[in-house]
Amino acid sequence: MHPFWIIILSMLGALILFMVIRTLMVRPKPICKTDYTPRDIDIQKVAAHLAGAVQIPTVSMKHNDMDGSVFLQYQKYLEKTYPLIAARAEKININQYAVLYFIRGRDESLLPAAILAHQDVVPAPEEGWEVPPFSGIIKDGYLYGRGSQDMKSQMIVALEGLELLLHEGREPRRSIYFCFGHDEELTGKEGALQISAYLEKRGVRLEYVIDEGGTILDGKIFGINNKIALIGTCEKGYADIRLEVEKPGGHAATPARRTSVGILAEAICEIEHNPKRTRWTLPVKQMIKSLAPHMKFVYRFIFVNRDVLSPLLKWVLSVVSPFTNGIVRTTMAATQTQGAHTPNTLPTKAYANINCRLNTGDTAEETRAYIQDLVGKKVKVSIEDGYRDPSPVSSIDGKAYGALERTIREVFPGYVVAPYPFIAASDAKYYYNLTDQVFRFTPFEKTEDDANRIHAENERQSVESLRQGTLFFLRLYENTCF
Ligand SMILES: [Zn+2]
Repeated sequence: MHPFWIIILSMLGALILFMVIRTLMVRPKPICKTDYTPRDIDIQKVAAHLAGAVQIPTVSMKHNDMDGSVFLQYQKYLEKTYPLIAARAEKININQYAVLYFIRGRDESLLPAAILAHQDVVPAPEEGWEVPPFSGIIKDGYLYGRGSQDMKSQMIVALEGLELLLHEGREPRRSIYFCFGHDEELTGKEGALQISAYLEKRGVRLEYVIDEGGTILDGKIFGINNKIALIGTCEKGYADIRLEVEKPGGHAATPARRTSVGILAEAICEIEHNPKRTRWTLPVKQMIKSLAPHMKFVYRFIFVNRDVLSPLLKWVLSVVSPFTNGIVRTTMAATQTQGAHTPNTLPTKAYANINCRLNTGDTAEETRAYIQDLVGKKVKVSIEDGYRDPSPVSSIDGKAYGALERTIREVFPGYVVAPYPFIAASDAKYYYNLTDQVFRFTPFEKTEDDANRIHAENERQSVESLRQGTLFFLRLYENTCF
């Protein structure tokens, strides 16, 4: 063999050896056992409480000056259902329908914890539902109804957990805020944003914030023979980017060679064929670091040697599932188009909306410029109002993350816990002004079928899942507030 090839092959051999040794050094950690014994939870009672909440149709209001009395009725229901919390809490309505319940702890030197949930739900036209959408009917082990998952279930178990501890006569050391906005499904600007501004104005600092989001997944996707519980440490930004093409209109019988719709269609194709590049952001690196020790050897080899195998791994993540694609890049999805109002007219203006979810480190303006570059000058590209750049990333080295991780391990024994970038949106993004410990976790296991029912027909929550949900919050309070 030519000496050149001998040198190349031995270098390659050395590299592979190095990569193997490096992989072996990341040892599969035994998941530590805890001595936590869960207590009995009366899940039928919790389900009945949730059914009552679902029966109050708190659909988000388009404007805050509409009649929101249903939200006040909903709050009355909560106070009746959780009398010990209601008796202790200082209640503050903000912007009329958002509500804060403040439960003072014994030790005022401790910063309060904040438990977030939104009262509002998306609309539910009856068509396609097996049961009336606001009936809260329980059948086949599921509680049906709009909001049963998103997110009255989380609000109910969060209250349930504290009510149970108060019922045992225990007194919290740390103060707790329940922060319940009423327009998360729209923007959160009338609810969560106002609550956080209210607290900031009063000089309140928080120990941590916990909101919906985060998820429990089958670990197979990462070569892990176990369930994984992901805690959202940040959330992606949001921008609707408008494409607009103007051309002289007229009768469709005498079209010009190029029409505004044709140019617009070409622009959309261009965007779909040129996704933004994938990047290793801090939250993704942290996620990989937490998951890698639990992966099968081949997966571990690839992830541990991320620097060497980067192009391959990024490609795999971007094609393996929409979820993994969403965590490694800014996504751009065409969601709306409009041309003429009648079929035989050439529109003067054609427009499309590109819904962009911005990865940590990207911005709306930079994404707009990227799209403008792709589609050229024939298309006007602008950012619609209401955009939001990505949130900061919460630290995973603080006490709050540690307590959250421990609580999940106790309540979901054997699960691998890891931080990750939350790819949807939540009210939590408005709370970074009060703490850098803002986390998202939804303590329910669900099937893919159940997850697909969120915002759709036949939304439902498994009654059995309310057990771990309640235990999760109860234990979180015990670990952090009692
Ligand atoms: Zn929600």
